[in-house]
Parts: sequence; C-alpha cells; structure tokens
Amino acid sequence: MKPSDGVSRVDEDPEKRGPNDFCLWKFAKEGEPYWETDIGNGRPGWHIEDTAITETIFGPQYDIHGGAVDLMFPHHEAEIAQMEAVSGKVPFVKYWLHAGFLNMKEEKMSKSLGNIVTIREALKANDPRVLRFMFISGHYRSTLTYDEDVLEQSRQALQRIDEFMFRLDSGYASAKEKELVDELKAGVIAALDNDFNTPPSLVSYI
Ligand SMILES: [Zn+2]
Repeated sequence: MKPSDGVSRVDEDPEKRGPNDFCLWKFAKEGEPYWETDIGNGRPGWHIEDTAITETIFGPQYDIHGGAVDLMFPHHEAEIAQMEAVSGKVPFVKYWLHAGFLNMKEEKMSKSLGNIVTIREALKANDPRVLRFMFISGHYRSTLTYDEDVLEQSRQALQRIDEFMFRLDSGYASAKEKELVDELKAGVIAALDNDFNTPPSLVSYI
C-alpha cells in the first residue's frame, strides 16, 4: 500500500516527522471529553482504545482479528505496533482476516455515504439462509455486492440445494456413492482450510 493511501485516516499535523505517524494520545480540544493526566488533559487515540479493550479481554496475544480491508493501515498496523511494544510479545495476533467491502450497486456501503442497509432491515426483507448463502458465495476478501439480482441468484441456488436434499434417500446405494460423498467432503474441507475459500465448496454442491 502506498503511504499516502491511509493518510486520510491519520490526522494531519505539521509537527509529525512522518505523515503516516499515528496518535497515541489526543490533547483535549475545546468542549471535548478528557482525562486529567500528567501530560495534560486528553484521551487516548482510537487505536489505543481497541488495544486496551482486547488486552483486557484476550490478553496481549490472541488468535484472530477481523476487519475490513481499509482498516489494515493505519488502524491494524497501529494496534500491532502499540501492543507488541508494550508487551514485548510477538505476534500480537496470529491471523488477520481482512474482509472485502460490501457494495450497494457500485458504491461501498458506509455510514458516511448514508447508503446503509442494516442487518435488521436485510433480515426483514430476506430469509436469513439466503443472506448467509450470499455472504459465502464470494471469497471473504473479495468485494461483495448487495442488490436484488445477487439476492435472487442466492435464492435460486439455495432452492436447487434444498430440492436436491429433498430427493436424496438416506443411506448410500452403493460403495461407489459413498466414495463420491467422501471425496466431496474432503474437497470442501480442503477448500475451507485454504483461507476459508468458500466459493469452490459451493460450486461442488450446485
Ligand atoms: Zn481495531
């Protein structure tokens, strides 16, 4: 990532040595809430807030930290820098899972753009299984689009699976059939072991 890409999410300040340096501590501006401390009135920067919460609950090291791709820098890098510096323990987090954006047609869904569909609204309009299917039909790191076409495709795919399941007899008709099922299961598990690669596991079902 180019250093400038993340700068919009880092405060600009002429006193910084590097434009990408992030704030550990924010001095209180007029009207802002603050703590009184030896270094003056202020509050921790938001990267610290997260690290403080996770350290309290999980300790200085834990397994999985998620977030959208736009949080890699500066937010997650700042969390790593802070916690590893304080604890001396490396790595701070074993696995980082950075999800792609959820788009509304062409645009990223975001609070600041005001084009948000809440989970509650989405659940009111759709069967939860359809939504779940839609979310896993793309790899979690790729961009996903939320619109009526995609929802309709998910509805139809899910219906095909349901109809197939309905027609299935219980038990295996032959050793060959069991072999095929075992092969399919192993394929799905191998795909999931490969960075939660959900799309191939679905393709083999449909
Ligand atoms: Zn965080």
